[in-house]
Amino acid sequence: MESEEFAEILAAVRRFVDKEVIPAEDEIEETDRIPDRIREAAAEMGLFGYALPEEYGGLGLSMSEEVQLAMAVGRTTPAFRSMFGTNNGIAGQVLVNFGTEDQQQRYLPGLASGELIGSFALTEADAGSDPSGLRTKAVRTEDGGFRITGEKRFITNAPQADVFMVFARTGEVADGAKGISVFAVDADLPGVTVGRPDTKMGQRGAQTAVIHFDDVVVGAEALIGGVEGEGFAAAMRSLAKGRLHISALCVGLAERLIEEMVSHAATQTQGGIPIGQFQLVQAMLADSRTEAYAGRAMVIEAARSYDDGTDQRTAPSCAKLFCSEMVDRVADRAVQVHGGMGYMRETTVERFYRDARLFRLYEGTSEIQRTIIAKQMLREAR
Ligand SMILES: Cc1cc2nc3c(=O)[nH]c(=O)nc-3n(C[C@H](O)[C@H](O)[C@H](O)COP(=O)(O)OP(=O)(O)OC[C@H]3O[C@@H](n4cnc5c(N)ncnc54)[C@H](O)[C@@H]3O)c2cc1C
Repeated sequence: MESEEFAEILAAVRRFVDKEVIPAEDEIEETDRIPDRIREAAAEMGLFGYALPEEYGGLGLSMSEEVQLAMAVGRTTPAFRSMFGTNNGIAGQVLVNFGTEDQQQRYLPGLASGELIGSFALTEADAGSDPSGLRTKAVRTEDGGFRITGEKRFITNAPQADVFMVFARTGEVADGAKGISVFAVDADLPGVTVGRPDTKMGQRGAQTAVIHFDDVVVGAEALIGGVEGEGFAAAMRSLAKGRLHISALCVGLAERLIEEMVSHAATQTQGGIPIGQFQLVQAMLADSRTEAYAGRAMVIEAARSYDDGTDQRTAPSCAKLFCSEMVDRVADRAVQVHGGMGYMRETTVERFYRDARLFRLYEGTSEIQRTIIAKQMLREAR
C-alpha cells in the first residue's frame, strides 16, 4: 500500500479510537458486547480485512503496517480488536496461506467486509499448549467428504462465528502433528453447537465458548488446501503472525496505561503535593515508559524482519514474550499509582489490569514462547 494511503488509514483509526471507542469502554464492559454503531464503522474503515489480500476486498497491509495499526487499536479495550482480530489473524490467515482459490473466494470477501465472522478452533481440554495431541476426529465418508466429531474450548468469537477453521485428526493419534488437518466448517451445519459464552476475568465484549462437533458432515471441499496433514503447519504459521500482532496490542495498551497513570499522578495530591512529585511514584512512571518504549522498538524491528522474511518465528515469540509480560508490569504499576482507586471497578486501570492478563496466556503462553525461542537457538547452534 502507498505510504500516504496507509498514513490516512492510520490517522482515521486513531481518531476513531479516541472519539468513538474510548468513550464507549464502560458501555462495552457493562453490556459485554461491541455496540452496532462501532461494529458498522469498523467494517466501513476496512478493519475486518486489514490483513487480508486486496484482491478479496482486504487492505493487504504488510506486517510493518499491521503493527502500527495494532498499536493504535491497542489503546482501547482489547474487545474492539477481537471483534475483527480472528477474521484477519488466526482464522483468516489459514485461508490466506493454505486455502485453495475456491475456499478463498468463498470466504475471504465476506471476512474482509465483516459480513462473515471467522473463528480459529484449535484448543481442546487436553490440547492447549501442545495441540499435537488433539482428539477431534475427521473420518472420511463414503462419498469422499468427512465426518467431524470432537469438542473445542475457549474459542474467540465462537458465539458470533459463521465459519470455523477446525483442526481435526485425519491420521492416527500416534502420527502426532503430522496427522492433523484443518477444515472450514460452517457454523450452521447440523451437529455444530456453540456453548454459552464463557465468564472471563476480563476482556468483556469479546466472547469465547465451547464448540461441539457431533458427527458434522462436510464435503471434500471443506478440507483446507485440499490436502490432509497440513493443519499443524497452518496453525503454527497463523499463530506466529498473531503473536507479533498481539505484541503490538500490548504496546498500545501499555501506552494508554501510562497516559492514565501520568494524568492521575499529576492531579492526585497528598498533603497538598501532587503524588507525581514523589520520586518513588516517578520511578513507576519512568520504568513503565522505558519498558513500553523497548516494546515498541522490538515490535517495529520484529515486523521488519517478518516482512523481509529473515525471521517469521523467533522474533514474534520474543516480542510476544516481552510485550505481554511488560504490559502486565505496567498495568500493575498503573493500579499502584492509583492507590485504592486502582482497585475500584469504576477505574479504567482496574479494567485494563484484568484485560491485560490474557496476553500472557493465549496464542501460546509465556512458557511456550520461551520453549520456541530456546529450541530455535539450539537448532541454529547445530
Ligand atoms: C480468552 C481466551 C481466548 C482464546 N481464544 C482461542 C481461540 O480463538 N482459538 C483457540 O484455539 N484457542 C483459544 N484460546 C486457548 C489458548 O490458546 C490456550 O488456553 C493456551 O494456549 C493455553 O493452553 P491451556 O489453556 O490448555 O493450558 P495448558 O497448556 O494446560 O497450560 C497450563 C500451564 O502449563 C504450562 N505448560 C504447558 N505445557 C508446557 C510446556 N511444554 N513447557 C512449559 N510449560 C508448559 C503453560 O505455560 C501454563 O502455565 C483462548 C484462551 C482464552 C483464555
